[in-house]
Amino acid sequence: MKAIVIGGGIIGLSSAHYLQQSGWEVTVIEKNNFEDNASYGNAGYLCPSHFIPLASPGIVQQGFTLMWNPRSAFYVEPRLSWSLISWGLKFMKVATKEHLEKSAVPLRDIALFSQHCYEELGKIPGFEMAYEHKGLLEYYQTEAREEHSHHFADEAKKLGLEAEMLTLEQVQAMEPQAKLNIRGALYFKCDAHLYPQKLMQSMKSLLQQNNVTMIGGEELIGFEMQNSKVQKVKTNSNVYDANLVVMATGAWGRETAKMIGHDLLLMPGRGYSITLQDSPFKLNYPAVLQEGRVAITPMDGNKIRFGGTMEITSTTKPPRMNRVIGILEAVQQFLPEFKIPLPPQKDVWYGYRPCSADGLPYIGKVKENVIVATGHAMIGLSLGAGTGKLVSEIANGEKPSVDLKPYNPSRFS
Ligand SMILES: Cc1cc2nc3c(=O)[nH]c(=O)nc-3n(C[C@H](O)[C@H](O)[C@H](O)COP(=O)(O)OP(=O)(O)OC[C@H]3O[C@@H](n4cnc5c(N)ncnc54)[C@H](O)[C@@H]3O)c2cc1C
Repeated sequence: MKAIVIGGGIIGLSSAHYLQQSGWEVTVIEKNNFEDNASYGNAGYLCPSHFIPLASPGIVQQGFTLMWNPRSAFYVEPRLSWSLISWGLKFMKVATKEHLEKSAVPLRDIALFSQHCYEELGKIPGFEMAYEHKGLLEYYQTEAREEHSHHFADEAKKLGLEAEMLTLEQVQAMEPQAKLNIRGALYFKCDAHLYPQKLMQSMKSLLQQNNVTMIGGEELIGFEMQNSKVQKVKTNSNVYDANLVVMATGAWGRETAKMIGHDLLLMPGRGYSITLQDSPFKLNYPAVLQEGRVAITPMDGNKIRFGGTMEITSTTKPPRMNRVIGILEAVQQFLPEFKIPLPPQKDVWYGYRPCSADGLPYIGKVKENVIVATGHAMIGLSLGAGTGKLVSEIANGEKPSVDLKPYNPSRFS
C-alpha cells in the first residue's frame, strides 16, 4: 500500500517514519530540497509547559498595541485578504478563558506523548538530536509577570507538570556566568530541548535507511479523485498513485487543503532566529524572556540560539530586520552583558509557523484517504514525533494514543 506524504518538515518526516514502520511503502514529496523549513531554525523546545494555546484571552488587545511598533514581537500585517479576515475573525472569537481551559489537557497530553516518542527515537542506534531533559526557565522582570507566573505555575501543577517559582538568586546560581536582570523565573522541569538541525538530519537518514523515497524539488499541484478518494497525486513534474495521502505542508496547509476542497483556517506566523557557535554568550538552561517574547536555547554543546517574533504575514514578503533588532534589544534588557551585534541578513534565519485559528493543530482525515497534519503554530517541533505516530494510527485504523477530537481538521466547517 502506497502512502504519499507531502512536506519535508518535522511533521511530514515523522509521519513518513511511523507509516513506514507500520508497513506502508512511503514517498515524501517536498517542493524545496529537504534542507530548510520551519523545522530547522526553531528554538528546539519540547515543551509540555506550552499548554496555553496561541488564541488565548488578552492576545488580541496585546496584538493591537504591539503591532504599531516595528520592533515588537507581534505583528499582523494589515491587508485585504479573505484568508486573513476569516482566520482573524475565528481567532478573536475563540481567544477566551473557556477555550484556554478546554485546551490545556489536550495540549499537555499530546506534548507528553510526543516527548515520549522522541525519547524512543533517541534509542535508535545512530539517531542523534542533542536531546537534553533539563527544563525551561521563564524569566520575568515585572511584578505583573511574576503574578502571572505564580498563576501559571499553579495551573501547571494541577495538570501534573513540574513547575517551580525561583528567585533571582536561585536562577543566578544556575547561570553563574551570565549577569541576569530579572526578578525571578518560573522553572518548568517537565520540558526538554534538542538541536533541530541534528534531529532533521537523523530523521532523513533513518528514512533513507528504511527505503523511504524522498523526492525534493517537486510541488504538489493537485489530485485526481474518484468520489471522495484520492487516486493520484499530481506535482509540477509527475503523477503518483496513492492509497493514502498525508498533507504535512506546514504554513502552506491552507493552499494545499483547498486542492481537495477543504477550507483550513491557517495563517503563516513568521519568526526569526540567530544561532551563534562558540560564542562568549552562554547559558546553561533554555530561557524564555517573558516580557521580551524571546526564546534562548543553548544547544548541541557549543551553540546558542536566539529566536522570536510572530508576524502574521504572507510567505512571500521579505524579512523585516527591525524585528531582529527587537529580539537583540530584548536579550540585552534581560542579559545586559549579551551585547550581540546585528548580523547581516544572510545570517538571520526565518521560518513560518503554521498557525491554526484556535492554536490547536489540525490532525485527522479530511477525505476517505487524506490525512491533514498541520497547524501546530509555536509547538510543531514539540508535537512533531507524536503527530507522526498519530498519523500512522489514523491511517491504520488503530485506537489513537491521545484523544483526537480537539484536533479535528473539520472543526470550523
Ligand atoms: C522562531 C521560531 C521558533 C520556534 N520554536 C519552536 C520551539 O521551540 N518548539 C516547537 O515545538 N516549535 C517551535 N516553532 C514552531 C515549529 O518550528 C513549527 O511548528 C514546525 O516546524 C512546523 O513543522 P511542519 O512540518 O508543519 O512545517 P515545515 O517545517 O514548514 O514543513 C512544511 C514543508 O512542506 C513543504 N510544502 C509546502 N507546500 C508544499 C507543496 N505544495 N508541495 C510540496 N511541499 C510543500 C514546505 O516546503 C515545507 O518544507 C518555532 C517556530 C519559529 C519560526
